[in-house]
Amino acid sequence: MRAAVISKFKDQLEIKELSVPEVGNKDVLVKIQACGVCHTDLHACHGDWPVKPQLPLVPGHEGVGEIVSLGADVKHLKIGDRVGIPWLYSACGQCEYCLSGRETLCLEQQNCGYSVNGSFAQFCLADGDYVVKVPDGLSAIEAAPLFCAGVTSYKALKESGVKAGEWVAIYGVGGLGHLAIQYAKALGMKVIAVDTGTEKLALAKELGAAYTLDYQTQDCAQQIQQLVGGAHGVVCTAVSKEAFEASFHSLRRGATFVLVGLPAETISLPIFDTVLKGIKVVGSIVGTRQDLQECLAFAADGLIKAIVEVRSLEEINQIFTEMENAEITGRIVIEMN
Ligand code: NAD
Ligand code: ZN
Ligand code: ZN
Repeated sequence: MRAAVISKFKDQLEIKELSVPEVGNKDVLVKIQACGVCHTDLHACHGDWPVKPQLPLVPGHEGVGEIVSLGADVKHLKIGDRVGIPWLYSACGQCEYCLSGRETLCLEQQNCGYSVNGSFAQFCLADGDYVVKVPDGLSAIEAAPLFCAGVTSYKALKESGVKAGEWVAIYGVGGLGHLAIQYAKALGMKVIAVDTGTEKLALAKELGAAYTLDYQTQDCAQQIQQLVGGAHGVVCTAVSKEAFEASFHSLRRGATFVLVGLPAETISLPIFDTVLKGIKVVGSIVGTRQDLQECLAFAADGLIKAIVEVRSLEEINQIFTEMENAEITGRIVIEMN
């Protein structure tokens, strides 16, 4: 099978011919039809984070396709089922986190396209218990970005505790952010979107943001304080320390700051303001299988729609360059042929 492989951090990926993985008892083999490209894939290929993936690696954790074979123990799926393989490739199913609906915190988890090979390939192995079915009526290309960008945005908004009619500020209108705006609107929230450039800000407006702010030319935190008295919640998806700092100063009293983007940096949190303003600071990591089903249902019901640009596997290095330069509007999805 053809696959995009990273063999050395910060190198180019190479398109290689690999053998199709063998199916174990609990596995399914998925013939990939489409896979979104997440900024996390770029972090993986750069070795940005403290826990690094083993190389060589096939990245990709928004793969969607058809099951072509399955292990003897997989009873709830069949050949021909359309499924997606999320970042949470598997978890132990037995620990306090798995047992309490917080499987994304499991210490034994495997991550698709990071600790195990992912979906930038014609076939991808998956754990039958952790794939999620794609609702009828959603194409593979439409569904792929929801398996990370969609579920992560949706979960982060839930974590924000922002209620219908309240203000949420979304920092970063990229793959995650453009979906976060739509989920926020669908949940009845009022949205302020922050990014830069006319194209991304116009998209944010089109998707329902009441206000759009340009971080390169405006003091966004000050604007958000002035416009609405501070946001009830902020979801920061930007890959930038400055965005996280501005996010904090965009909050009103009692608000929740949800950290989602993963720049390899640290921020300092003003203790006095956090305490006196009763600020809640929350990290949010992808979403559970249940969150995924909910987030897919919004799309199946026509309430949200990923804005995608379809490209080929051979273009992966070019796609990463565009991502690094923040030139992508919406999500790029690789169509596998
Ligand atoms: P992306 O490249 O598509 O989007 C990032 C956006 O941030 C770009 O539009 C960029 O212009 C914007 N940006 C940069 N600096 C900014 C600033 N100062 N203020 C506002 N916007 C700014 O990336 P993505 O795929 O949406 O991923 C975003 C981040 O989220 C990455 O770090 C990724 O690893 C992380 N991520 C986290 C989770 C999780 O579970 N927490 C899941 C998926 C991705
Ligand atoms: Zn567990
Ligand atoms: Zn991702």
